[in-house]
Amino acid sequence: MAMNRFEWASARTAAEGAASGATTVADAMLPVPGGPPGQAVVLKAGGIDLLDLMKEGLLAPRRLVDLRAIAGLDAIAQESDGGLRIGALASLQQVAEHPLIADRARALAEAAGGSASPQIRHVATIGGNLLQRPRCWYFRSIAHRCLRKGGGKCFAVHGENQYHAIFANEVCAVVHPSTAATALVALGARIEIVNAGGDVRRPLLDEFFVAPETDVQRENDLKEGEVVTAVLLPAPAAATTSAHMRQSDKQAFDWPIADVAVVLERDADGRCSKASVVLGAAAPVPRRARATEEMLVGEMIDEKLAREAGHAALEASTPLARNHYKQPIFAALVARVLLRAAGQG
Ligand SMILES: Cc1cc2nc3c(=O)[nH]c(=O)nc-3n(C[C@H](O)[C@H](O)[C@H](O)COP(=O)(O)OP(=O)(O)OC[C@H]3O[C@@H](n4cnc5c(N)ncnc54)[C@H](O)[C@@H]3O)c2cc1C
Ligand code: SF4
Repeated sequence: MAMNRFEWASARTAAEGAASGATTVADAMLPVPGGPPGQAVVLKAGGIDLLDLMKEGLLAPRRLVDLRAIAGLDAIAQESDGGLRIGALASLQQVAEHPLIADRARALAEAAGGSASPQIRHVATIGGNLLQRPRCWYFRSIAHRCLRKGGGKCFAVHGENQYHAIFANEVCAVVHPSTAATALVALGARIEIVNAGGDVRRPLLDEFFVAPETDVQRENDLKEGEVVTAVLLPAPAAATTSAHMRQSDKQAFDWPIADVAVVLERDADGRCSKASVVLGAAAPVPRRARATEEMLVGEMIDEKLAREAGHAALEASTPLARNHYKQPIFAALVARVLLRAAGQG
């Protein structure tokens, strides 16, 4: 489908981006009853998802405001409190290769490095990655006006749902599309956001994402006129290790059908003192496997425990007609990633 004509502007600072009159892409995609089409101003980073939505005929903005010329917004650096600051414009490739991230947050390096193709990773930004819209094929089809696009029904719940959610899928069964988000939620990351008034907020990423029960038309709590400036990782406790792995459908550069991130803290004797286990491509938002996390605390991690932990991760799963196959994949993947994070895989 041909793209409509649109204007192009370039912001030189985050404040300029916030003051540009930009709305969120989620709002720009909703029908305006009786209103003129194509009036929205939207922000653009790498443009991978944005231009896809425009080519698919799902988004027709009046103006794009490019953020890529904002100086320094791609920097990755250690902060004075020992945490890491990853600028919103850092590419997935930069995130995958940065020595501080490889050293302190291996799960994130692995999640970013395993996403998409090398060409896409060089263009795609971490901020845009977290804000990309879901891959549900009904959502991506102009012929289907589903709940998430302001329509009346979910086509996937009784339709082609093989790539959909196996948890929390009653209202809308999308899976969250960001692979990096799986690792970032496990690592306890925050997202830094500024608005046109210069106010800064830094919610936990876990709380920034929005479940369909809360609002089926948006995946996160980004508001009109807000610009994401960074992703913030807390300073890791001593003896923290992490890992991320994904399972793909085929040997192609595509979104995973399942991915898992594990972050472990261990005592001097090697027993697990804290565990974060997060499932990606499993639910509309990255899914914490709480039962698994709880059963690991106080234990030495070995193969038997890893297998049990994998099964526990499926607690409360409600697979749809065509995606039961994801259950054994998640059980096996949780076990493998856990052993890998524990240095045994
Ligand atoms: C073949 C293929 C395979 C892929 N595989 C994977 C995969 O395995 N895992 C995965 O996670 N992703 C995958 N992707 C998706 C890709 O990684 C994302 O589309 C990309 O990361 C989006 O980043 P971007 O910088 O291009 O964002 P853009 O397309 O520029 O923007 C995306 C959204 O974010 C908003 N936005 C961007 N930056 C900001 C900001 N700083 N402040 C406020 N709003 C902002 C835009 O308005 C837009 O709504 C794949 C894509 C393709 C084409
Ligand atoms: S799963 Fe969500 S996005 Fe997909 S058809 Fe259903 S409501 Fe729409």
